[in-house]
Amino acid sequence: MKRRVSAKMVAAYLREIGIDYIPVPGGETLEEIRNELTSCRRCPLCSGRKTVVFGVGNPGARLMFVGEGPGEEEDRQGEPFVGAAGRRLNQWIARVGLARRDVYIANIVKCRPPGNRAPLPAEAAACLPFLKRQIRAIRPEAICTLGSVALQFLLDGTGKITRDRGKWREFDGTPVLPTYHPAYILRNQTRETEVFSDFDLLAERLRLK
Ligand code: URA
Repeated sequence: MKRRVSAKMVAAYLREIGIDYIPVPGGETLEEIRNELTSCRRCPLCSGRKTVVFGVGNPGARLMFVGEGPGEEEDRQGEPFVGAAGRRLNQWIARVGLARRDVYIANIVKCRPPGNRAPLPAEAAACLPFLKRQIRAIRPEAICTLGSVALQFLLDGTGKITRDRGKWREFDGTPVLPTYHPAYILRNQTRETEVFSDFDLLAERLRLK
């Protein structure tokens, strides 16, 4: 008896052996990606988590945000950016005439690092293929990275947020604009004008407002 091997089975096998980008005809959905993560044990962060914080928002979003990793509140609620930093991010999103439900928000790692420390390179490496697949499923017109961790792990290990914010980069053909993390701005209010000018660039690129 012949067994049919689907393109998705081939893609799953290639990912197992470390090839994480496989164009699947018709693409894969966010739900398919989420399902693979529900019981993820690919890195030690799984042992401390309450929930896998996959991502939230519009699966067809034109604009996507990438943060660092879930904090305590995000781990409890299973949604990224729900604490004070999330409220500040919502305000920035509103500045460009969008609501939180219009965009998509995800993180470099999907499980909370202990004590809210930055993710370790091995943890980010284990989780990044899922973020990349989310990006390919959503196909946003622009991505905004929030803070130095997202800049370094998504774009450039030597990136420096004070130098590189507000300058367009590219990930896999998608324009990426690094800006500051909202938690940093909560502690350094005077730098928020730089974030405002970065959001003006996003609005300009996406012809928003
Ligand atoms: N900070 C992040 O980077 N991500 C979250 O989800 C919450 C706070």
